Amino acid sequence: MQKFIDSYDFAGKKAIVRVDFNVPLDENFNVTDDTRIRRAVPTLRKVLDKGGALILMSHLGRPKKVDPKFSLRHIVGRVSECLGTPVRFADDCQKADGQAAALKPGEVLMLENLRFYAEEEGKPRGLAEDASDEEKKAAKAAVKASQKEFVKKLASYADCYINDAFGTAHRAHASTALIAEYFPDDKMFGYLMEGEINAIENVLKNARHPLTAIIGGSKVSSKLAVLKNLVGKVDNLIIGGGMGYTFVKAQGGHIGDSLHEDELIPDALEILKEAEEKGVNVSLSVATVAANEFSNDAERKIFDIDDIPDGWEGMDASPASLENWKKIILASKTILWNGPVGVFEFPNFAKGTLQIAEDLAEATANGAYTLVGGGDSVAAVTRMGYADKVSYVSTGGGAMLEAIEGKELPGIAAIRG
Ligand code: AMP
Repeated sequence: MQKFIDSYDFAGKKAIVRVDFNVPLDENFNVTDDTRIRRAVPTLRKVLDKGGALILMSHLGRPKKVDPKFSLRHIVGRVSECLGTPVRFADDCQKADGQAAALKPGEVLMLENLRFYAEEEGKPRGLAEDASDEEKKAAKAAVKASQKEFVKKLASYADCYINDAFGTAHRAHASTALIAEYFPDDKMFGYLMEGEINAIENVLKNARHPLTAIIGGSKVSSKLAVLKNLVGKVDNLIIGGGMGYTFVKAQGGHIGDSLHEDELIPDALEILKEAEEKGVNVSLSVATVAANEFSNDAERKIFDIDDIPDGWEGMDASPASLENWKKIILASKTILWNGPVGVFEFPNFAKGTLQIAEDLAEATANGAYTLVGGGDSVAAVTRMGYADKVSYVSTGGGAMLEAIEGKELPGIAAIRG
């Protein structure tokens, strides 16, 4: 049964915590952004302050074998600084028995990168490119078999398990899901996970209406499941960014050289039809800031969204589109935003995305609940200094997307189940 970090008695216990310390490092292996470490601190301090000891486990990067470049040893100093206490290090996450057993209340041990082992992800490694189906199957079975021992070893270090790694909650890996089985009555979410889950439920389950989703980004294909799930739930669906042009083309508009996916036109039409049947207001750009080439310094011109000449491509939402969207946003009580409404990487085409960030801050100040997720949207609110002016900024890109697709995330199910 799921337990709760606030009421669990950690005194004299060892907690193994899955954190997401997959932080960026510079060429000298210094941590360049410690946000992920700092966001785990409330959970970690709680355990220590209640008389528990910590065993921290994480992945870093995508190593396919033991590789010193991806050692978590590089971040021990920063974790220690953020926690305000020394942190010991176990060179091998599978050989930490002695160090784990020796931990006293208030002490912290961090395990080496879980992904030095194929068993963490449970996927075979080093298969020849021309491996036969039989060989692939056998390799998969072998790693699944050794995965059981891998998980068991990690679990043997501790008395309870905390998952505070939302960024990997959509993966059924050893440390994010499988390990929970060894702690049927001693498993719980950390504060970060609780915060993420509450934020998603505030939008998908308990939303105050009107509920508006702003979905942007490059491709319909990567957010099709998101759109399909949201169209049954929201009152307003704002579709911006590159993906909007597929919808415009689907309705017969001329989009010049704008990004689009012809093969997704039937899906776009289906979403529009379903929205109409359900009385959902779909709002696309009315006009676009277009460029004569894909570059920041391109010539810029505004065209109606369905009348973009050949040789020009839509790159950002126009002021008129942003005015429309602002009205919708400010009239909403719950707003979800995922994905930029323009080519945010180019300063000359980032205005629309930054304006959305500003509108969300204004809506939040007026009492709306606002959830922001996805790399560029989070970067936009952060760049505008609004990270504290929206209700919640999600830490998980892929995990957040899968959650708003309506999927149950393995990392969440493993604790609740
Ligand atoms: P996603 O990862 O799907 O959220 O998409 C983010 C990407 O969408 C960013 O790299 C943006 O530059 C890109 N994007 C947004 N609007 C456009 C557009 N109008 N044309 C091309 N790319 C765009």
